[in-house]
Amino acid sequence: MPVPAQPAKEVRKRVKLLPRRRCAVRVFSMNSDYAAPADCHVIDCRGFWDPNTRHLRGHDGRHPGIQHSFLKQTFRFSRILREVKAKTVSAPGNSTVMLGFRCHKGRHRSVGIAELVDGALQVRGHRTTLEHLSIRKCTCSVCNQGVSRTNVSLAVGAMDDVSE
Ligand SMILES: [Zn+2]
Repeated sequence: MPVPAQPAKEVRKRVKLLPRRRCAVRVFSMNSDYAAPADCHVIDCRGFWDPNTRHLRGHDGRHPGIQHSFLKQTFRFSRILREVKAKTVSAPGNSTVMLGFRCHKGRHRSVGIAELVDGALQVRGHRTTLEHLSIRKCTCSVCNQGVSRTNVSLAVGAMDDVSE
């Protein structure tokens, strides 16, 4: 059965209910020597503990176990997310915000946190790009399997919990 055409007035009402367009976000990770791109808001990740177990140290920050160790540092992670929300939530929909995550070597902390924030921002409707500017990549299959959905869900929950 054909669907009856919506009256124009009704359509307009529905358009108003659509969520506001979110800003685009370019997410970077970098080491402490890297000159951040101009207009990039730099967030220091060195307050996090680095993964200190031998089985994780050889991997890079894309490893889900390493990312999970950052999620568990809830106080530090919330502080980062508060900063992320302050920059992105009220930014105009046609703008692009640049967020740079920085740690000592640009291999574990900045990479893992950038991956989590990038995933969470995407779930919350932002168009994002992610670049690791200083990473020395681990070649194992776990680090190269793409960001863990479980970790991203946890990051989204943490992001929703922090006030702007
Ligand atoms: Zn690895």
